[in-house]
Amino acid sequence: MEQQANRSIGCTVKQCVHHCQSQNYCTLSQINVGTHETNPTKVECTDCNSFAPKM
Ligand code: SF4
Repeated sequence: MEQQANRSIGCTVKQCVHHCQSQNYCTLSQINVGTHETNPTKVECTDCNSFAPKM
């Protein structure tokens, strides 16, 4: 059963277990975004910390 897309959270990471798959949205009600840098300066510095790989 496909989970409901959350249209407030667009996402193209189809390798994530929380991705809607049929559309480019997350299925979680909220996500946590963080950074792996001490001083983030560009988009590549940010991470979705709610990501979980598919089995
Ligand atoms: S948890 Fe993050 S990476 Fe995974 S589908 Fe949602 S927004 Fe995308």
